[in-house]
Amino acid sequence: MRTIDHWIGGESVSSTGYGTVYQPATGQPQAQVALGGPAEVDRAVAAAVKAYESWGDTSLSRRSKILFKLRDLVERHEDELSRLITAEHGKTIEDARGEVIRGREVIEFACGIPHLLKGAYSDQVSTGVDSYSLRAPLGVCAGITPFNFPVMVPMWMHPIAIACGNTFVLKPSERDPSPSNLVAQLYADAGLPDGVFNVVHGDRAAVDALLDHPDIAAVSFVGSTPVARHIHQRAAASGKRVQALGGAKNHAVVLPDADLAEAARHITSAAYGSAGQRCMAISAVVAVGSAGDELVDLLSKETSAIVVGPGDQADSQMGPVVTREARDRIVSAVDAAQEAGAAVVVDGRGLRVDGHDDGFFVGPCLLDQVTPQMDAYQQEIFGPVLVVLRADTLDEAIGIINANSYGNGTALFTSGGPAARRFVRGVTVGMIGINVPLPVPMAYHSFGGWKASLFGDTHVHGTEGVSFYTRGKVVTTRWPEQAEASRPTLH
Ligand code: NAD
Repeated sequence: MRTIDHWIGGESVSSTGYGTVYQPATGQPQAQVALGGPAEVDRAVAAAVKAYESWGDTSLSRRSKILFKLRDLVERHEDELSRLITAEHGKTIEDARGEVIRGREVIEFACGIPHLLKGAYSDQVSTGVDSYSLRAPLGVCAGITPFNFPVMVPMWMHPIAIACGNTFVLKPSERDPSPSNLVAQLYADAGLPDGVFNVVHGDRAAVDALLDHPDIAAVSFVGSTPVARHIHQRAAASGKRVQALGGAKNHAVVLPDADLAEAARHITSAAYGSAGQRCMAISAVVAVGSAGDELVDLLSKETSAIVVGPGDQADSQMGPVVTREARDRIVSAVDAAQEAGAAVVVDGRGLRVDGHDDGFFVGPCLLDQVTPQMDAYQQEIFGPVLVVLRADTLDEAIGIINANSYGNGTALFTSGGPAARRFVRGVTVGMIGINVPLPVPMAYHSFGGWKASLFGDTHVHGTEGVSFYTRGKVVTTRWPEQAEASRPTLH
């Protein structure tokens, strides 16, 4: 079996403990991954502290050149990265490729760091006095990331942190750890000095060691809400800057004036792509007024046509979920919803994929007649389950969204501008799509939700990412004119 070790100070480092990485499509173990604790975290942070001494002083043009090279290497290794993602996460190759491209776009944004870090200058704020502001790096930053985007989510963080002059310790998900080591290798090939980018693998023990470490200045986290809350509290308690992005329940509201066939097609792909394991996946539809029955009919046809199979098989449109436990949890959530009175319109619970009896497969499930009180609505299922609620008016639909504890993404399907405007202004959600089901911001905007979907106040990447990984200085200068003869001699 392959062994996936830590990457610290520019070299592979073995661990005291190891865990198992499964292949979701077969259900079989495929590798063992290092599980680090305080000792490995100490070693990685020491390497990052040492590297910061020179990296923080490295010129903007050198930093930018290394990022341009990295961008090129990520493009050239897109295939290899995508295959690693599919093998360990389970998503289709096409999906994995999309993730690598979206991650690369953040590197492209970070290549422009000389422009992004330009300060502001005020001439003659008082007689003979000028003032300017600049942004300085923080030191060592840590990133703790989820299984569902093993390349893209870490890339929301490290290219910008490193471009800003920080050094970085990444603790990726232990479920699909391999792509992070390949990214570390690509950074080295791009000429990044040893110790600027480090990877410590592991679970809670590694995370808590990072949160408590006195030499870490800032923590970026993406994952589930209970863990995000824990990260925010514990990292803030030890004086760190922290941004912690949590879970989601993303609603698509469909008005009767929308093109219902188009809406059903978009919603189906946004609900079941990557087996629903996307933080921006649509997991709840609110059908308004007369749209309801026709929409459910259209959704049912689209959902039933999805081809489920191993992610590396060309005709698969949806792969397995990440673990056996995830599959069992998803099936139980559908069982409970049915018992609570939901109608199971499309039932993926019993799905078997030929030749993959032990794979972690669950087919797409479509549930109608769901109410806001049901667990299947209130909780994030994080699998291929779409629930449909009904509302009489747009305002009632907005009320449902705003009463939900999450506020990551939402979408409205309509042909009416005034309704769209009212929706955008009315919802308490961070990322909004109008006839766009997955409104994931581009790298030069910032990504983040509201309410239980984000703890801290800075979103990731874009200019908010640059703010998060730097702190400001404002300098006020006076250079009094002196007579030539009275100038001190400097040598
Ligand atoms: P998770 O919270 O279980 O794990 C995330 C990271 O935290 C992993 O690195 C894991 O090792 C670590 N971790 C897990 N339990 C921990 C604990 N008790 N203490 C300290 N660290 C712990 O999340 P996941 O299952 O890997 O990913 C799915 C979740 O991530 C979903 O809830 C999804 O909505 C969320 N997510 C959110 C966004 C967003 O932008 N808001 C993006 C992607 C994923």
